Amino acid sequence: MARAMIVDDAAIMRMCLKDILEPEHQVVAEAGDGEKALEVYAELKPDFVTLDITMPKLNGIEALEKLIAEYPEAKVIIVSAVGQKQLVFQALGLGVKDFIVKPFDPDRVRQSINRLFE
Ligand SMILES: [Mg+2]
Repeated sequence: MARAMIVDDAAIMRMCLKDILEPEHQVVAEAGDGEKALEVYAELKPDFVTLDITMPKLNGIEALEKLIAEYPEAKVIIVSAVGQKQLVFQALGLGVKDFIVKPFDPDRVRQSINRLFE
């Protein structure tokens, strides 16, 4: 079981991801914007993060840049409605482990997380 943080500004999306991750993994934190995500990551050091891109305050890409700069070993999967190639390449270049486009298949999400820990 890994400790997860779900970052998305939409409560319904956080709930949906939580349903997919649990009970196999433990969701230890949720955040609704990039700033909060950085704060909570520093506090709880979750084993992995699902990260939305379009969010208030600090968007997912900005948050990712800061997070990876401080914690290069962070395991992050992007789960975003925005799947433009440019963004995908940017995120992968910053070190994300996977990029999942909404609406997603729950099994696709589970597979992606399992691969983090192989
Ligand atoms: Mg969003």
